[in-house]
Amino acid sequence: MRPGRAPRGRRWHDRRFHGRADYRLPIGRLVAFLCAATVVGAVSGSVAALSDHDSLAFPGPRRAPAALDARVALPPTPSAGASVAHVSLVIAAAPAETIAPPVQEARWRPPPAARRGAPMPGRAEVAIVIDDLGLNAERTDRVISIDAPLTLAFLPYGRLVRPLAHQAREAGHEIILHMPMEPLGPENPGPNALYVSQSSHELVERLEWALAQFDGMVGVNNHMGSRLTEDPAAMRTVMGVLAGRPLYFLDSRTSQRSLAYASAQAAHVPAVRRDVFLDHEISADFVDRQLAEMEMVARRTGTAIAIGHPHDVTIEKLTAWLATAEARGFTVVPASRILAIRSGRADLIAALGARLPSSLE
Ligand SMILES: [Zn+2]
Repeated sequence: MRPGRAPRGRRWHDRRFHGRADYRLPIGRLVAFLCAATVVGAVSGSVAALSDHDSLAFPGPRRAPAALDARVALPPTPSAGASVAHVSLVIAAAPAETIAPPVQEARWRPPPAARRGAPMPGRAEVAIVIDDLGLNAERTDRVISIDAPLTLAFLPYGRLVRPLAHQAREAGHEIILHMPMEPLGPENPGPNALYVSQSSHELVERLEWALAQFDGMVGVNNHMGSRLTEDPAAMRTVMGVLAGRPLYFLDSRTSQRSLAYASAQAAHVPAVRRDVFLDHEISADFVDRQLAEMEMVARRTGTAIAIGHPHDVTIEKLTAWLATAEARGFTVVPASRILAIRSGRADLIAALGARLPSSLE
């Protein structure tokens, strides 16, 4: 009987694949075969051995199967003449997230410079982050419909944050958590914000709650937080939670003395800093000036990160700016791409589960 084949050409993020092989074996060799298969299956590299033998095709890197299920059908009436049994081996591979994504590149093919994490020659790359999303569905919707790969920062406590964040990601934007943190002034950062007066236990609990409010986030930035980001102990606690998760930290720099970037680096959390605020004064003239400032930073250094808010004037000015940006040498990219360039680590984009926009394909 011809062995079954695992399907070829599946994408790397398919959670499981299965290989199946059917054999007819003399009963005398059956026990030995099963023992050998089980031992081989438990040892690293067994799939390579099995697939070489039995023509099973395994996409991606070969590794020990998570489950090796052998089913044996004995003949209905054992007799001296019935010396053959049917054996089926079902091999299930481990979930893909435990495997280094083997064909990530096949999903998007950025130009060689982008793959190396190097800036694209002759282009200035700009990430535009829009904060405070998820509370007002209509405004969030308007931002999502902007035709550029923006980085959208969602507050964790909006009633519709989960479906809106999903919609944003489906539309091709990068999404991050906009974590409410204590400001120096009297403003209220909102429910479940982080305060310097809280115990590290409470800080951890609140941050973990926020991280669980929607799926698909690849990073975190601070909402307000001029007080909290100046506090070394609180920053250590925050970065301790983020360390080990596939998340970057974008320091919004709401304080000149913010320790967020340095704390993130100390905790080995990939980190990047905002360059320009587009609209802390809500007027057309001000947003124009800030967009010009963003262009200047991007031209001078090759990259810029600007943060704005879903105000009417910001959405209008940004939409107008985007209409001519490409022709004037600016490419809008997700914040994770700026992080990859500035840190010289192109691998971070895949490691964070982020995606390059189709414009870079
Ligand atoms: Zn904010």
